[in-house]
Amino acid sequence: MRTDVHTRAEPDPSKADPHSTLARGTPTDSPLPAADIFAGLTDPQRRAVTYTEGPLLVLAGPGSGKTRVITRRIAYLISCGIPAWQILALTFTNKAAAEMRQRVGALLGEGAIARGLTVSTFHALCARLLRRFADGADIPGLTSSFAIYDGADQLALVKAVLAQLNLSTANFQPRSVVARISAAKNELLDAPAFAARAGNFYDRHIARVFTAYEHALRTACAVDFDDLLLLTARMLRHTAAARNACRDRWQYLLIDEYQDTNHAQLVIASLLAGAPDGSPAPPDGPNLCVVGDPDQSIYGWRGADIGNILEFEEQYPKATVIPLGENFRSGAHILAAADALIRHNALRKHKDLYTSRPPGERVEVVLCNDEHDEARLVLDWFRTLQEDGATAPGAPDRISWKDMTVFYRTNALSRVIEDTLRNAGVPYVIARGTAFYEREEIRHALGYLRLVANPADDVSLGRIVNTPARGIGAATIGRVETAAAELGVPLLEALRRTALDHAGGPTPDLAVRTRAAIARFVRMIDGWTGRGAFMGHDGTGSLAGLVERVIGESGLEAMYRAGKTDADAERVENLAELVSSAREFEVAFDPSADPASDGAPGSAADPATPRPPLAALLRAFLEHVTLVSDADSIDPAQGAVTLMTLHAAKGLEFRAVAMVGLEEGLLPHSRASESPADLEEERRLCFVGITRAMERLVITTARYRTIRGLSTRTIPSRFLRELPPDHITVSDQAGIADSEDWSDDDRAQGGPTRSGAGSARESGRLSGSGLGTGSLVRHAQFGVGRVLTVTRGRDARARILFRDAGEKTIVLEYAKLERLDR
Ligand code: ATP
Ligand code: MG
Repeated sequence: MRTDVHTRAEPDPSKADPHSTLARGTPTDSPLPAADIFAGLTDPQRRAVTYTEGPLLVLAGPGSGKTRVITRRIAYLISCGIPAWQILALTFTNKAAAEMRQRVGALLGEGAIARGLTVSTFHALCARLLRRFADGADIPGLTSSFAIYDGADQLALVKAVLAQLNLSTANFQPRSVVARISAAKNELLDAPAFAARAGNFYDRHIARVFTAYEHALRTACAVDFDDLLLLTARMLRHTAAARNACRDRWQYLLIDEYQDTNHAQLVIASLLAGAPDGSPAPPDGPNLCVVGDPDQSIYGWRGADIGNILEFEEQYPKATVIPLGENFRSGAHILAAADALIRHNALRKHKDLYTSRPPGERVEVVLCNDEHDEARLVLDWFRTLQEDGATAPGAPDRISWKDMTVFYRTNALSRVIEDTLRNAGVPYVIARGTAFYEREEIRHALGYLRLVANPADDVSLGRIVNTPARGIGAATIGRVETAAAELGVPLLEALRRTALDHAGGPTPDLAVRTRAAIARFVRMIDGWTGRGAFMGHDGTGSLAGLVERVIGESGLEAMYRAGKTDADAERVENLAELVSSAREFEVAFDPSADPASDGAPGSAADPATPRPPLAALLRAFLEHVTLVSDADSIDPAQGAVTLMTLHAAKGLEFRAVAMVGLEEGLLPHSRASESPADLEEERRLCFVGITRAMERLVITTARYRTIRGLSTRTIPSRFLRELPPDHITVSDQAGIADSEDWSDDDRAQGGPTRSGAGSARESGRLSGSGLGTGSLVRHAQFGVGRVLTVTRGRDARARILFRDAGEKTIVLEYAKLERLDR
């Protein structure tokens, strides 16, 4: 079959010369793409894979193979002779990046062909680019050894700034201030630009905080997450050397989940995609391929701009748009439920969702009494799927723990589910990538390491200078801080001057003992850094060795060892785990995958490249642990049920999904009550959740939920009413479905849906002849048993625990159960 490789003029193979960093690589006929690259692709998918020159937008629904297209496209480009290092793919999580890299490798077979390929998140890419080019980029205060401040550091800094400006945290809540600053940066507004726009009293104060916060960041030679994007955008715009190096290197740009990019990311993508400076832009636009689904845009609250994907064709008038259509992930009932739901969003362009897969099971909606019943229901449901999925002939295969997941809107909902699964001995993991690095002992250890990597990092120094206690108390640090501010030097430098000068240097009134303690502290840090020379003369050495030294010599480990509690013992283990994680990191570290290297043969991508110096390795490690996200910790290989927020679920798929807490105020979240646009984002979040399910989906709502210790009556989520009766079964554990909460009558009054599924409204009606949880029954074959759960609707089922036969799921219509309890 002809493969539409050349949509333009005949290619010139010499242009793909891997030795020319300026080559604008063009696919050639040779070597022929491996058959594997096209295996299992539909025609539109194949078109998207092979349309390699010029801007391309793949706009398609969930599970339609967008991510598959990106992966295959990379493999295809390489198989066409494009050097891997000319390809840059951007994904939403580090984990997605790792998977993509691994799949490309698998497609192309063993060998070094994919060396130098860059697959990264925007943030990780920006961090690397800033490190590489910061020194020439004219960003005041920024050098390549900068630290990256995470949310907790940001908050600490904002609090310090508020105190410094005498602003009360009651009027200026630190979290809201951080959010305002973050939103401004996502719009590429820096402090002066924000100040220029600040119209009202509140904003003028925020502008003052913003300015002081920026000053503090730069003094500490630190950037926050948003700066990674903002400063990279600015650097690419204003620093020709950085811009040209990137453009020269990356000829092919691919972006997954494009619907969730923010303005800063759009600008970065546009700047990267531009033609190399001095040469004419490609006549039809850059080789930029973006894939996404506007219906899955769920990060608007964090600055994502759905307009980026909707306006792609305006931005690149020559763009080709390829829809993919067919869904390959979910059963037809699940897909129909998702479709009906998302049609309630008015601000969208409709896309048909369809599948040629068999209908599979209906979506099960269960009304529970409270969160404990909800958790037990999920547990029972999982057990049934895991244990007796295969008892009846023709029934679906058993589903293993790793293929099951629980989604919730907010982290607080996980606790009861966790307790229930733990008590029942069901293995589970929580997708909280940051959890490990947020532990007190790990934050302390990282504080030391960050100070080693960046001596100007005052926030880290403040964290660890007296942990463990070493006689440098808060009052002392207060004085040194004042001195540092007067001298305009970082805290560590002020401490050093204090220690060196027998007269006390900048802080003459300190006690001799305190000065001695300070001197010991400075010597310790200098011992690790060699005052910049880094552990030895050649700058090499083991990262794990450094981490081990730091937690030993700082006294951190000894401090926890001295504690006698189990928690202390666990902390010692965690510190050991940090050493292991450093070792893993350095073993796996591939400088050729580093976007800050040239990638081209003869540069860092070359197998002969020496190991990076320890300082660079340490910075890369710190970056790695700082940029970790919840989704990064998802590892199905662990053989456990995964628990995660709906936001972390993006891009993933599971055979069985339980979505809990479908209640007003939770999903949709109360935050969304103010604007219709926010409500639509909540609906998209629900849509994302539903469309993760391949075979089975249960959605639960609890009538009562404990909120701040009080059992509170809830209102079922409006999204439940928007699900199409034809494709769901409703079961009622709490005896409330026929009550005022959520009856069929209610549903009928919910107004006509735009789904056209209104005609099927009757079929979701509850049946089940009064059988409820706890009913005692007799079955002709299995004997006497007690009902655990009942689903209602057209093929109503009951899960029954029989005294002799164990747990079974029975279709009520055929089973002819005899009721024994009335
Ligand atoms: P999302 O919008 O949720 O990110 P997506 O569009 O990226 O979804 P993929 O994750 O690429 O979709 O694919 C969904 C599932 O369908 C995957 O399991 C994938 O392997 C499978 N798939 C994709 N294309 C095909 C195909 N042509 N034939 C069979 N299975 C396919
Ligand atoms: Mg995807």
